[in-house]
Amino acid sequence: MTETAKPGCIFCRIVAGEIACDKLHEDESVLAFRDIHAQAPVHGIIIPKRHVATLDDFGSGDEALLGRLMLVASQIAKEHGLPGYRIAMNVNSLGGQSVFHAHLHILGGRQMNRLG
Ligand code: AMP
Repeated sequence: MTETAKPGCIFCRIVAGEIACDKLHEDESVLAFRDIHAQAPVHGIIIPKRHVATLDDFGSGDEALLGRLMLVASQIAKEHGLPGYRIAMNVNSLGGQSVFHAHLHILGGRQMNRLG
């Protein structure tokens, strides 16, 4: 575990290598891996390695990290030849978040339904 990990957090445990993942990308600050309950042919989870619980818990100074998450999503889409895809971030329980380590979903490889 790194000093920024939260004990018991499943995504921190993936970052630490304690739980296996199907890795899509890794750099100094970001890790991406396939979702275990894929909702599309390509369904990735993109996380900051540092534990941040929700979008609301990022602060000033995290602009580059948040931008990096988006750029990694675009890179994954290109690597998988996705002509179109969806990026989603669920925020808090009412927003559908179930793992409280902030993450982007990237979904592609099928037609996305309209939101709403
Ligand atoms: P959310 O509901 O937005 O918090 O998304 C959490 C996502 O993490 C869900 O789509 C889960 O299927 C996924 N997930 C949970 N545990 C794992 C894991 N060990 N490896 C990969 N994906 C996971």
